[in-house]
Amino acid sequence: MNYTPTIGLEIHAELNTKSKMFCSSLNDPAEHHPNMNVCPVCLGHPGTLPVPNREAIRKVLKVGLALHAEIPEYSKFDRKNYFYPDLPKGYQISQYDMPLCVGGELRVGERDVRITRVHLEEDTGRLVHPAGADSSLVDFNRAGVPLMELVTEPDITSGKEAGEFARKLQLILRYLDVSDADMEKGQMRVEANVSVRPAGVKQLGTKVEVKNLNSFRAVELAIAYEIERQTALLEKGEEVAQETMGWDEKKGQTFSQRGKEEAHDYRYFPEPDIPLLHFSEEEITELRSELPELPQARFVRLQEEYGLSEKEAELFVRGKDIGEFFEKTVSELGTEVSADKFQQMVKLTANYIASDLMGLLEGASVVGEDFLITPENFAELVVMIADKKISSAAAKQVLKEMFGTGADPDHIIEEKGLLQVSDEGQLLAIAKKVLQENLKAVEDYKAGKETALQFLVGKLMAASKGSANPELARATLEQLLKT
Ligand code: ADP
Ligand code: MG
Repeated sequence: MNYTPTIGLEIHAELNTKSKMFCSSLNDPAEHHPNMNVCPVCLGHPGTLPVPNREAIRKVLKVGLALHAEIPEYSKFDRKNYFYPDLPKGYQISQYDMPLCVGGELRVGERDVRITRVHLEEDTGRLVHPAGADSSLVDFNRAGVPLMELVTEPDITSGKEAGEFARKLQLILRYLDVSDADMEKGQMRVEANVSVRPAGVKQLGTKVEVKNLNSFRAVELAIAYEIERQTALLEKGEEVAQETMGWDEKKGQTFSQRGKEEAHDYRYFPEPDIPLLHFSEEEITELRSELPELPQARFVRLQEEYGLSEKEAELFVRGKDIGEFFEKTVSELGTEVSADKFQQMVKLTANYIASDLMGLLEGASVVGEDFLITPENFAELVVMIADKKISSAAAKQVLKEMFGTGADPDHIIEEKGLLQVSDEGQLLAIAKKVLQENLKAVEDYKAGKETALQFLVGKLMAASKGSANPELARATLEQLLKT
């Protein structure tokens, strides 16, 4: 029998606001000293009152707009009650039945994954369990940090698709500048709800919730593992228990953590200290106008505007800074050339960024303070390559030097004598010398061995220290060999 897997995701992301969700304590994920960014509000002292962070709300609304969600006119906060040492108030301020954003979708491959809702809540503190100690410690720096939660409909069908969804969402959060969404740092956390049912059956199977998946790989592997585990159970005629599970990275297995809690376990009720939120049509229109170009739109535009391949466009969308560097360079190429020549230079720009520059960067981002190449200088280099003023070997050398020192390409070329020799008299002199020094190859060539010519071109390039124009070098040698 065949089984159909179903997956729905719940994704949390810490927002990159300046202050926390309901107080003015700093929201600083880089703070390593415990309990620095705290105040009576986020420590849950009696008598304190929460004041919602406007910026956090605006950021979540932007996410909703980017995903084509509906922004209801009214929204509210609710208390979700449970006790845990990292939750000083004994409840978390969250949103229950009136979230900030409702509906929407995100395209993954050929499928639109429907979004159920996006809401706003506060993060908890962090528990620390020192090795060997008989007590645990609590760090409240994270307590009260704005936390966005996005819930999808059960529209996903595999671990791979879930991973792709999470990657796409991460990129959107970064484009919107709402969250750094670094999974390794816990700024984005994924929970996967997984069920399996016999093919053809309409009703979804019993789901298991896998918590705290902190890498894309873990998302993909844990879901694949669960699908297999549940399928095996059903094949044996057993039932899947509804429970909350963890993921053991080392063993590559899910493990049972606890039974499933229900909404009524949390005794949700409206947060009495925060008034109802109201959003006017004008506010939403204004927010919409602040949205930047989003990854999917950029992916399409880069191909249409510059004739890039899907692969190049994808690289420049994923690496937002690299993409911006590409576009800035193109804008510096100069337009006093034919359309064909311009297109050729655009292609060269894309190639040199995608291969050579990316190689030098070793995956780092372009905007770092230590990135010294300006788009003007990069464009200058591309123009010289296109005009055949320097060879591609020399170009690589120049680029490396530009990368290291930030120097102008024409200075480097002059200093290192890399200008390509296209002067026929000069080439002829070198070519003659090369032929005299390689009589065996000349004989071979005359005896019909074509590859000998390539050997001689190589010798000529070496004799000119790489500065000869290779096409002209070949032509000159061929000419001499005929006579
Ligand atoms: P709960 O009430 O248990 O929290 P929800 O209906 O709120 O469940 O759904 C939580 C998440 O689980 C959502 O992402 C949803 O798409 C997903 N989900 C719900 N039912 C199933 C199912 N049978 N199989 C897989 N995922 C499911
Ligand atoms: Mg739920």
